[in-house]
Amino acid sequence: MKIQIVEESDLKLKFILNSSTAFANSLRRAMKSLVPTMAVDYIDFYMNTSYIYDEILAHRIGLIPIKTDLQRFNLPDKCVCDGEGCPNCQVSFRLNIEGPKVVYSGDFVSDDPEVVPVYDNIPVIELDKDQQLMMEAVARLGTGREHVKWQPVSACTYRIIPDIRIDDECSRCKECVEICPRDVFEFKDDRVVVRKPEECSMCMECVKVCEEGHIVVDETENFFFTVEGTGALPVREILKEALKILKEKAEEMNRIILIE
Ligand SMILES: [Zn+2]
Repeated sequence: MKIQIVEESDLKLKFILNSSTAFANSLRRAMKSLVPTMAVDYIDFYMNTSYIYDEILAHRIGLIPIKTDLQRFNLPDKCVCDGEGCPNCQVSFRLNIEGPKVVYSGDFVSDDPEVVPVYDNIPVIELDKDQQLMMEAVARLGTGREHVKWQPVSACTYRIIPDIRIDDECSRCKECVEICPRDVFEFKDDRVVVRKPEECSMCMECVKVCEEGHIVVDETENFFFTVEGTGALPVREILKEALKILKEKAEEMNRIILIE
């Protein structure tokens, strides 16, 4: 297995993975639903005289991405408190605001200065005159498998980078260059060359248009991944964590097989 990073920032990662299709899909699923992040999971409403029900507000607040430190916090079921709730597995956010005002994610006051919303400008609700919101929201670690609010990525996709070959008998009619919707081909130095194979969506239009059959598009074991994070974790950490989780699962499977 080999990973080649193509483009990287804290929020976006593009890389090429060389492995089997099964592994590529496992990695995608692990990044989406097995890497934990922080999200609000429990809210005590002391006062809500706004025009939105507690449940709907709670759902909105749950979707605010929160900066996560996986080294410091435990998943509730793996914590020393057995899921009761303690400083090792949860953080409280307080809010007490009176209208008229738009409440933003940045208005929540966290008990922990390092565990705060990733963006402080996400609108939560607009309060009118004399409307008040007073609550305590508790965030904890969870995984996307439980609820989408714990998903560390907003997009995580891959596609196969095909092997595209044009043989020497090519009549240079350039029809493949014209028809390709993703500009994979280029006419250069009096011949058709494959310029950007990673852009190919395997629509096979070039194969269909090439009547003499000089183009071959084959599947390979190279996958082009595009991952966009929510900001809760740097995308590189999401990738590393997902690989670690897959390794642990494989080791566990080995142990089970050995015991049996
Ligand atoms: Zn705990």
